[in-house]
Amino acid sequence: TLASDLQKQRGKSLVIAGETQSPAVHALAHAINHALGNIGTTVVYTEPIEASPVNQFAALKQLVGDMNSERVELLLMIGGNPVYDAPAELNFVAALRKIPLRVHLGLYNDETAEQCQWHIPEAHYLESWGDARAYDGTVSIIQPMIYPLYNGKSSVEVLAVLLNKPGLTGLEVVKEHWKTQIGGDFEKAWRQTLHDGVLAGSALAALTVSPRAAWASSLKPEVASGIEIVFRPDPNIFDGRFVNNGWLEELPKPITKLTWENAALMSPETAVKKLNLASEARPFEANGKVIEIESNGRKVSAPVWVLPGHAHDSITLALGYGRTRAGKVGTGIGFDAYRLRTSDAPSFTTDVKIRVTDARMDLASTQEHFSLEGLGERQIIRTGTLAEYKKDSNAIFGAEKHEPGRDLNLYSHFEYKGYSWGMSIDMNSCVGCNACVIACQAENNIPIVGKELVKKNREMHWLRIDTYFRGSIDNPETYFQPMLCQHCEQAPCEVVCPVAATVHDAEGLNVQVYNRCVGTRYCSNNCPYKVRRFNYLLYNDYETPSLKLMRNPEVTVRSRGVMEKCTFCVQRIMHAKIESEKENRAIRDGEIVTACQQTCPTEAIRFGNINDEESGVSKLKKEPRSYGVIAELNTRPRVSYLADLRNPNSELESTVKREESQHG
Ligand code: SF4
Ligand code: SF4
Repeated sequence: TLASDLQKQRGKSLVIAGETQSPAVHALAHAINHALGNIGTTVVYTEPIEASPVNQFAALKQLVGDMNSERVELLLMIGGNPVYDAPAELNFVAALRKIPLRVHLGLYNDETAEQCQWHIPEAHYLESWGDARAYDGTVSIIQPMIYPLYNGKSSVEVLAVLLNKPGLTGLEVVKEHWKTQIGGDFEKAWRQTLHDGVLAGSALAALTVSPRAAWASSLKPEVASGIEIVFRPDPNIFDGRFVNNGWLEELPKPITKLTWENAALMSPETAVKKLNLASEARPFEANGKVIEIESNGRKVSAPVWVLPGHAHDSITLALGYGRTRAGKVGTGIGFDAYRLRTSDAPSFTTDVKIRVTDARMDLASTQEHFSLEGLGERQIIRTGTLAEYKKDSNAIFGAEKHEPGRDLNLYSHFEYKGYSWGMSIDMNSCVGCNACVIACQAENNIPIVGKELVKKNREMHWLRIDTYFRGSIDNPETYFQPMLCQHCEQAPCEVVCPVAATVHDAEGLNVQVYNRCVGTRYCSNNCPYKVRRFNYLLYNDYETPSLKLMRNPEVTVRSRGVMEKCTFCVQRIMHAKIESEKENRAIRDGEIVTACQQTCPTEAIRFGNINDEESGVSKLKKEPRSYGVIAELNTRPRVSYLADLRNPNSELESTVKREESQHG
């Protein structure tokens, strides 16, 4: 089915092999793109940026060989943390100790810094001058946002010292280099490049290439048996470099919703049938059971997490945890998957033995926190196919939106004469990446609470991404629904607050008056969307100087005993109002961008004035796909969602269904 689909789209399709795949798989992908006529249209080849590309693993192995035979007198490490993450078989730390003089330039005083006589504090990339090339070769000059906060030095400054040019600033080093590359009026070209962000005309020329004859003869089929281990950078803390960042630790990971650690991810079938960790009726009882994974004589113990839709006979381990020197937040959490990862098998290995232990760990996943009730009967997630939509959009998304009539109301009607704020979120666009959650946390001084309190449902995020699975446990559809305060026009929280700490304002915002809140939490109890967060303890640290710099000065830093929740970034609304009043005009559509909207890479979020028929958000709210979540409660939410519209290949769908029925 896929092949015939691709054939129908010759010159317009693209086959991409994942970056962790073997050279053989990459060769196949190139050949398929060539056969489909994609070269020059969707695929462009250029010369490599480095004149002679180096196999980094081979170079590192050679260096470690030299270190072991004591041929290295001085080793300067520019960034990185090889003592923690070098391939396991190299035993980098033992080789490093044989070098008389060891120097490390790094952002952190980490495992590698600990083994060196000299550690140079590195300037952050937002504090440094530098240069880089884009994927097509285009040169860009990196400009710092601020002076180094802690007198750090950038890599170009350290290298300049080694090249006998001490005292040069990063700007001077970068400028001096590009002076030799850009001819003509350099000052003018330099200023233009800084202004544009890129050096005009520096993209590499496209090459015409075609596969060698008999290219396929050298490919060897990969024979896999037993269980495979897949190594992946963690979605939050990447390769471990961000492990000391509490925001990223507490951020529920996409799909699993795990916080504060990694786990051995596997399919229900692998947990039940291969490892016998749980019964078929209750596969999720395997969650938290500890397995011991052994490869090449090295072992790690990891808690299991069963994930619907995960590939069978495969276990995914996230890298980056199990650090021994990573600061107060990041040291000692999770397990270190690098211990199993070798230079011959950096992405996956089948050379493993698994032993089930009696131990169990308590993991902190937020998947079932703040659940909306009635998933089956209330259409919290609405979805349909393009074909169904074309046939009758109302049948899928509901012309009948289940909203009670406007007159069915106990309260008097309030007429908004000026602005009336609202939001639309497109579930078709949302990919569940979590960027908006962190943006909201940064913008609004939202604290973290730690793993023990996450386990008690006490995480403080004002915006969460609800993840829903539908269909078979082996191959489910997955839906993401960003959930925040809906600023209900008829807000159930407001009527139960005994001290009027949560009230409506004249522009439709549901506001929280922190000074009035006495902490009864009736509002949170009465909120059907479960978006209110209570400061049970004093989570914010008011004293540490570096944390003061982190906070948004336009937003209150809350204390113990106060309820809080999404404000629709009221500080941004006020800022736009002040600017518009100074210029004696109305706020323009698109002038207010909430922090979550600003950060969303897929532009799934739109905010604006719903009193203006012509505003972008008003138009989205009129789309047939637009609906309010549990609006049948007569809450009249100001946030609406655009239902998820899918466009599956009907032939492929029936193949999947056939295979599923064959496998029961
Ligand atoms: Fe957070 Fe502002 Fe988005 Fe509300 S509108 S979820 S406060 S970023
Ligand atoms: Fe979805 Fe956008 Fe938020 Fe990512 S940033 S989770 S795509 S709404």
